[in-house]
Amino acid sequence: MSKPLVAITGASSGIGEATARAFSREGHPLLLMARRVERLKTLGLPDCLCEKVDVTNLESLKSAVEKGEEKFGPIDCLVNNAGVMLLSKAHLQDTGEWERMLDVNVKGMLNGIHLVLKGMIERQAGTIINISSVAGLKPGPNLAVYSGTKFAVRAISESIREEAAPHDVRVTVISPGLVETELLEHTTVRELKEGFENLKEGMGGFLEPSDVAGAILYTYKQPRNVCVREIVLAPTRQLR
Ligand code: NDP
Repeated sequence: MSKPLVAITGASSGIGEATARAFSREGHPLLLMARRVERLKTLGLPDCLCEKVDVTNLESLKSAVEKGEEKFGPIDCLVNNAGVMLLSKAHLQDTGEWERMLDVNVKGMLNGIHLVLKGMIERQAGTIINISSVAGLKPGPNLAVYSGTKFAVRAISESIREEAAPHDVRVTVISPGLVETELLEHTTVRELKEGFENLKEGMGGFLEPSDVAGAILYTYKQPRNVCVREIVLAPTRQLR
């Protein structure tokens, strides 16, 4: 029997890309979404629809979901992974950076949930996996808004998990610590980027995106009556 459709936002790099490869190895058809659609296509995965999507734009996401479901059937698993992290002190940060993080990390996730949850409840089946962060458990300097968005991911997920549970729909939060991806490069404050490099050396390296993809796949592959509510994983030597 063919396996059901898995949809992943932010699949053009890092954790999303590794997750796409992991589900593909398991034989799932995929709906991959990101703004850099060429990078999705270069993954060269079989049974894969690659769509140019900005998750902050509900219509763009809706059109991709409709195309994916028309081609491969209903989405059985949505991984809300697209995210941005722009670090700075609150009194120095441009409010545009705040808006971007809130829009992508919170509203983008909500847009994804809005488009799949109703169908999952009607079918009495489905899994939504939202990517938070250790920053969603522990706030700190330079992290005010990023951390706030990741706390929001956990709060929203837990409320919706309780709403969806009676319908056999699972909602999971994955909270990684430091992972070696492009995420850290988007910060505009140079000293903070350099700080991460020193941290990495001290830790003997960050997690690989495939480590997080493994946790996502583990969650999904549990029997349907098992909901992994939350996984927190970080490099062993990461202290905070
Ligand atoms: P990357 O920067 O490698 O990946 C981020 C992905 O999000 C890219 O594929 C990017 O695609 C996509 N994205 C960003 N903005 C949008 C948008 N508006 N619409 C659609 N897609 C978008 O970083 P990671 O793999 O590390 O990040 C994945 C998730 O993991 C994020 O939610 C992040 O917060 C979380 N995380 C990461 C940690 C880390 O240390 N790396 C730690 C904890 C959590 P494109 O630019 O092509 O649109």
